Amino acid sequence: METFQFDSHIAAIDHHLLGLPGVGLTYVVRGETIALVETGTSLTVSNTLAGLDALGIPRDAVEHILCTHIHMDHAGGAGYLAAALPRASVYIHSMVSEHLSDPSKLMPSVRRAVGEEAWPLHGDIKPIPTERIRPAEELRLDLGAGVILAAINTPGHSPDHLSYRDLKGGALFIGDAAGLVMDHYELAFPVTPVPAYDLVAHRDTIARLRALDLPRIYLTHYGPHDDVDRQFAHAEECLDALVALVDVAIDAGQEHPDLAALAACWLPYPGDGPAALVARSWSQMSVSGMLRYERKRRERGA
Ligand SMILES: [Zn+2]
Repeated sequence: METFQFDSHIAAIDHHLLGLPGVGLTYVVRGETIALVETGTSLTVSNTLAGLDALGIPRDAVEHILCTHIHMDHAGGAGYLAAALPRASVYIHSMVSEHLSDPSKLMPSVRRAVGEEAWPLHGDIKPIPTERIRPAEELRLDLGAGVILAAINTPGHSPDHLSYRDLKGGALFIGDAAGLVMDHYELAFPVTPVPAYDLVAHRDTIARLRALDLPRIYLTHYGPHDDVDRQFAHAEECLDALVALVDVAIDAGQEHPDLAALAACWLPYPGDGPAALVARSWSQMSVSGMLRYERKRRERGA
């Protein structure tokens, strides 16, 4: 597994999300104790463990596993990781923590959200004993040696979304709060999935994060980016474009608009390269989430 050293106290493991390099990272934050940020799916856990081996980190040295939100590529691997890392607690927003101890209600909704083509790539969730799950929404985690991680509520992409600030370097483990940026696949867009996407919260989150003047964001998909304001501005532009596209489809009275066609119009992604599945699946998920959001907003008369 490829591992990276991004800062004196921050490394990362490419866990080959969706079977591809360059799509998903688990970050490794080291003080006197060690925290992982993001878990990948159940299907990537063995890669993450191999990455820990490559970094020379013994299994019992990891005390914390931080998830930004309950989506499968961010928390799906938590149960299997917790089983392999016996001293680790798992941190997630308390509004969704029950799904990590009893995933039975979550899985059907995930399947609907990601679609049949991408569903087999998302794995399953191993239930975690409740005593190993901790609420993360007000987390201030002191890892020792001056390394502290502090949670920031960043809803929008999902209501439970949290990002974690590295108070030592000032950077933010941003999860999916502002979108994905995968330079090597020439993909950069905000992900706005069903069922719980919230545009107003999302715009507010991006505005609050812009005001923090962050020196760096660490994206789960994918890697560190120091051109922070440019990325936030791009995410806002993409949101505006998606809203406009979806509104046209709704205004035209389309009951079941062609999601693939709308996604291709929003984010043209030519060819059948390795990332085409990611581009198609995540952009269509975004179109469908925004359609649902806009329809509901109109029903409310807001
Ligand atoms: Zn997500």
